[in-house]
Amino acid sequence: MLKVAKFGGSSMADEKQFAKVRQIVQSDPARRVVVVSAAGKRDRKDHKLTDLLYLCYAHLQYGVSCDSVFQMISDRYTGIRDALGLKTDIEGELSALREKMDDGISQDELVSRGEYFSAKLMADYLGFDFLDAKLWLKFKYDGSIDTDASYEALQKLAQGRSVVIPGFYGVTPDGHIRTLTRGGSDITGALAAAALDADVYENWTDVSGILMVDPRIVENPLPIEHITYSELRELSFAGAQVLHEATVFPVREKGIPLNIRNTNEPDHPGTLIMEHFDDEADDERIITGIAGKKNYSIVTVAKTGLSSTVGAYRRLFEIFENHEVSVEYAPSGIDSISLVVQASRVEKSIYAILGEIQKVLKPDSIHVTENISIVAAVGRRMVTTPGSSGKIFAALGKNGVNIRMISQGPEELNIIVGVDTKDFSTAIQVLYNSFVK
Ligand code: ASP
Repeated sequence: MLKVAKFGGSSMADEKQFAKVRQIVQSDPARRVVVVSAAGKRDRKDHKLTDLLYLCYAHLQYGVSCDSVFQMISDRYTGIRDALGLKTDIEGELSALREKMDDGISQDELVSRGEYFSAKLMADYLGFDFLDAKLWLKFKYDGSIDTDASYEALQKLAQGRSVVIPGFYGVTPDGHIRTLTRGGSDITGALAAAALDADVYENWTDVSGILMVDPRIVENPLPIEHITYSELRELSFAGAQVLHEATVFPVREKGIPLNIRNTNEPDHPGTLIMEHFDDEADDERIITGIAGKKNYSIVTVAKTGLSSTVGAYRRLFEIFENHEVSVEYAPSGIDSISLVVQASRVEKSIYAILGEIQKVLKPDSIHVTENISIVAAVGRRMVTTPGSSGKIFAALGKNGVNIRMISQGPEELNIIVGVDTKDFSTAIQVLYNSFVK
């Protein structure tokens, strides 16, 4: 059994968080591969180490002394080391870094040092080996990750060892450090789990899993216990701030479950994400999660016989394509179709698009509805539960929310409604209350 455990910035913020991480790792011998972020904020006013490193680089760029920022970085890591009674030579590392900075360091290398120091300290604290990501996480020249080469390298390096790996960066073919996107330690963890065929990829953070709905809209929403990878994708597309697609991809591809856990509440099971769940008899909730996005426009085109005219849809979609506008949803009837697009994407081109539709299709009418928000109810059990959509529409109607558009994907994983933006929060609250409470 192997668990790859990734700990985010809040889990690495200070010595108290380090102690919680150690407790978690030591409580399960399967947690032999640990991936860490740079130290995060200790409280709301605090700074993330990575942000300080970016700031330091900006100072260097403009020829302004970065001594005070560098001091904050040094203090943070020497402070953790001293509080934990460790021996890691942070000072030596820091002065070598300082010299490199004077000689002209790359931004990627400098900002990657947060993860590097975190991993050095955590390895020392756990008694694990430090395994530098630059030894295995390999980029290609085009900037994409060379997964085959990376997996092979990590398999060799991690074989039979307990290791701590710094997240967020890897190495280019010519040996330079290159970072992933912000928040990229999640990706490092997923790649490590995929490379080593882990039984589970644990992503330890400061919330007890993915919440069913945005807590800024619904107070204290319940966390999701189980969610499939497809549902997660739907929720994320519909606006939920959940794991990035690139994070999920390596583990999903290998059929590895992903478990989101809370370092501050280690007994909570968190959210388990899998390809599918076999035995779910006692989990009765139809809706897994609710998400939404504002600022949409709907272009409705009506023409008698539209759906039986060969090529009409293609010509219509081509107009949007030519203006580089992606059509996110397109519910249709026999004589009309609605194209749902992000308002910001058509801000400049809407009149040109309407003019072209007029010219090419000669429709009976074209209508643009603005200030629309999209709300998606996502749930894998909807497909087998008769009356799910009826319940959704009834709940919205009863609460005075006017539904301007309805769309359902063929997999019946979601029901999407377009509502006036003034009804956005109400729609989400109503759905949550009628399905969860
Ligand atoms: N430290 C990096 C960031 O702040 C990467 C990470 O934490 O995942 O973006």
